[in-house]
Parts: sequence; C-alpha cells; structure tokens
Amino acid sequence: MEKEKSQSAQLKEKLFMNRKSGMLKVSAEEIKKADEFCEGYKNFLDNAKTERDAVKFVIAKAQENGFSEYDSNKTYNAGDKVYVNNRNMAVMLAVIGKNGTKNGVRLGIAHIDSPRLDLKPNPLYESNNLAMFKTHYYGGIKKYQWTTVPLAIHGVVALKDGSVIDVNIGEDEKDPCFVVTDLLPHLAVEQMSQVMTKAFTGEHLNVLIGSRPFNNDEESESVKLNVMNILFEKYGIVEEDFLSADLTMVPAMNSKDIGFDRSMIGGYGHDDKVCAYPALMAVLDAKEPDSTVITVLTDREEIGSDGNTGMKSTYMADFIADLAKADGMELRHVMAKSTCLSADVNAAFDPTYASAFEANNACYINNGAVITKYTGSGGKYSTSDASAEYMAKIRKILDDKNVLWQTGELGKVDGGGGGTIAKFVANLNADVVDLGVPVLSMHAPFEVVSKIDVYETYRALYEFYCV
Ligand code: MN
Ligand code: MN
Repeated sequence: MEKEKSQSAQLKEKLFMNRKSGMLKVSAEEIKKADEFCEGYKNFLDNAKTERDAVKFVIAKAQENGFSEYDSNKTYNAGDKVYVNNRNMAVMLAVIGKNGTKNGVRLGIAHIDSPRLDLKPNPLYESNNLAMFKTHYYGGIKKYQWTTVPLAIHGVVALKDGSVIDVNIGEDEKDPCFVVTDLLPHLAVEQMSQVMTKAFTGEHLNVLIGSRPFNNDEESESVKLNVMNILFEKYGIVEEDFLSADLTMVPAMNSKDIGFDRSMIGGYGHDDKVCAYPALMAVLDAKEPDSTVITVLTDREEIGSDGNTGMKSTYMADFIADLAKADGMELRHVMAKSTCLSADVNAAFDPTYASAFEANNACYINNGAVITKYTGSGGKYSTSDASAEYMAKIRKILDDKNVLWQTGELGKVDGGGGGTIAKFVANLNADVVDLGVPVLSMHAPFEVVSKIDVYETYRALYEFYCV
C-alpha cells in the first residue's frame, strides 16, 4: 500500500514550484517527436549559416507550403499565406486570420544573422608569400575561439552591371576551406601572459587563403595574383569588385548530435536559427488562425538591429500597416492589440562556469523553452520588461497545452548582460516577451542546444499562434 504523503509534502506540492528536471515531465513519445523535429532543424542550420542563406531556405520552404509573395494591391482572405522578402536578408511569413488584424496580430520574431567574420572592403593582401583576407568581426565574439577553426566563405559579389554572384566555398566535401592561424604554445609566452582582449585582437583575425605564386613568378605579390586569378576564372571578378560585396567567413563544419544519448545538438549559429526554425515551422503549420499570424525572421540583431533589414527599420510595421489598411484599420490600433513572442536564445546554466549564473533564475538545458521577462544590463537598462499581465497570459497558453517551459535571466546581476529585439516591438506599443532556447557556449563557432528545448520552443510558438 502506498504510504500517505506527509502534510508538509502535500503542502509543498500545492504551494511550491515544480522544479523537477524537464526530462521527468515529458513522455517518451514527446521525446521521439523532438528528435524527429530536430532532424529538420539540423538541415536548416547547415543550410542557413548566413541571413542570405536563411532567407533563400525559408522562401523555398514557404513556396512549397503554398505561400506566395505579398502584393499590397491584392485582396487577401482568411487562410491566405504570404511572404515578404526584404532585400534577401530578412523575411516575413504571414497567414491571414479569420479576424484579420481587427484584434491585433500575433507576432513571432527571431533573427537569422549570427556572429562571424566579415571580409573588409579591401580584404586581399599578401604577406611573406602568404595570401590573406583581412576581416572585421560581426557581433560579439571571443576572438580566440575563431582561430584554427575550418572556415567557409559565403555571400555575394554585386557587379556594376547589376548582376550578383553567389559565393559559397568550403561546405562541399571536396571544397577547400580557410583558417585563421594562431601562435604555437612554444612561442606564445608573451601572448599567454596578456589579458584575453590584448592577446587576440580584431586585427589578428586574418584568414589564410593561399600560398602558391602565379606561374612560379618572382614578381612581387604573385601569391595574391594567383588567388585573384583563381577568383577571376571562377567568378569573373577583379580586386575592385570586393568593394561591392557581402562576403563572410563562417565555420565550415556541419551540426552534430552531442552526447552518448544524442540529446543535444552542436553547431554554428544556433543563436538564433534555433528560434528562427521553430518560428518558421509554427507559421507553416498555422491553419486558419483567428488573428493574422506573422513570423518575422530579421537581420542585424547581432550588431544592434540598425539598418533597413534590422528590427529598428520600419519594414515590419509597414507590412502590418498594409494588412491593417485592407481591414479598414489604422496601424496604431492594430499594434496596441498585438502580442509578440520575441524568439531568442538565453544562456543555459553551465556548471563549469556556475559563478556567472544565479542558479534560482538561470535557465537549464532540457527544461524547455525559456521565457526571459527582461534582458538588458546595469539595472534592467535598455530592455522591455514584460508586464505581469502579459506574463500571465503566456503562462496560461503554455500550461493549457502542456508545453515544457521555464524562466531565466541572462546571467547574474551585473555579470554583463545583453539585449534582444523584444524592445523594438514593445516600442511599437505591442505586448512582448522573450521566449527561446537555452544555449551553451553562445556566440562560439560551435554552440550547443538540447533537442527537447528546440521542440518545445516550436510548440510554444505554434500554440501562441493558434490562440
Ligand atoms: Mn540572439
Ligand atoms: Mn546573439
């Protein structure tokens, strides 16, 4: 016979938060679904390393699922599916709801840019018979992590005749790749005694791209000439064309399962593809929602969201204004009733660096989608702190549908900090809170997430859209 629980055990069950590991709360069936979902995610991650790659992937997927390019002159009805391509670097997907925009829209917003090494406008040079690219890092990185990692080059070169050349080298098995060199430990006595910000500087991030001279000539810069000649033969570009190029170096390796139990995924660019993919799948799966749902996959988050493809741009509000106008509504009235999940990652508690976190308010691998009420730094500065009322609404949606979720702050108070795009949506007078996936080694060339967390983030976004 089962022993009756003590009074304090019963009372604890009633009053205390259930802090059991998330894995003890989900069924074997759900874990299986998560594993399957993540196979699709890994494919996305490997094919969407840059925002341009991601937009291409997303639009192809949208078209397969019956989405067509939005035309503001057309009339749309409930159930219609449209997408908006903003300069091949940001994309929005919408499913028109039964009530259109009348009760506001449901927004799911993630970013598709990730930290990386961009080429400088004048990247190519030769030094001591080695050809190199100068880079300017994009987003917040620990620079040493980007040395001695195989790199691929992705991006476009735009020519004066209006044509745009796609560049992608380093991903195919047979492709060469590139690398930032580092000093051997034997000769690094001075380097190793320096603080990290001095030991590895931005100007150390030079990429090795060639070493053989053209025709074995003794001419100066013949190694650079040989590289330029290869690029000319392959792409028809000359050195000056680098001036109108968006070329970037990203880790060349693909994602891998992590752990004997395959419970996690390691890969480049989880921040924030790991939320972009769930937001994509949620809108693809949103059938006949009441309110119009919009997934926004934006650019430039890692450098502050400035620019016409970032969330400080008017592009999302302009689109919603068009949808509002078609319903005889004003944008401001729609925004005031709109709700948003800003889908971005949070830092998962790392036992090796436990002192950076506050254990009661950290998020954990395998505890599900993490809701981050506020980000910012220095006393909640520069963030949107979601209201109690909105938090309650989201709690109800997730609990009603048995979504596995947790809350988390970004590290301990005054340990550093960071921001998300939540505040830009909040500034448009919508209700918004951050929800996403906990990540280990965030902003490293190889980040880690848990499969169940990825799947629960999809479920959270999907249920949010279906309300
Ligand atoms: Mn992010
Ligand atoms: Mn980031």
